[in-house]
Amino acid sequence: MVEILRKILNNTIKTYKFDNDSLDMSKFETPLKVSGSIEKEGNALVLKFEVLSHYKLNCYRCLEVVEDDFGFSHEEVIEDDFEEFELEKAINDEIYLQKPSRVLCKEDCCGLCPECGINLNHEECDCSEKRTNGIFDDLSDLFS
Ligand SMILES: [Zn+2]
Ligand SMILES: [Zn+2]
Repeated sequence: MVEILRKILNNTIKTYKFDNDSLDMSKFETPLKVSGSIEKEGNALVLKFEVLSHYKLNCYRCLEVVEDDFGFSHEEVIEDDFEEFELEKAINDEIYLQKPSRVLCKEDCCGLCPECGINLNHEECDCSEKRTNGIFDDLSDLFS
């Protein structure tokens, strides 16, 4: 990578283009499509890329698996740390930042019952009823 960056900086090559075929994608957890380029701009290098991927995450309320596509484009300037620069790592770091962390299976997901743990989207339980009654029982104890 450093070699390529030097070549661009020295104007030996103009642009370095990359995609899945030129990257080592083995480190990535999810299958993804990447395409981008590194170009010289003044004394700096500009890295641009686009990522298209697919995630499988657990709904933040009910823990059911949610699958969806996600994608983004990113642009950054590499100024001094050429020697340290690793393209795959830069892409991976950005994916971690952009990846949705809290997803819901649907806007109004009912989540899990905090008492018995059933999925309230599919089933009903009488825990909340019991709880409410419990409060009234306590109150009636107070006033009896
Ligand atoms: Zn859910
Ligand atoms: Zn319950």
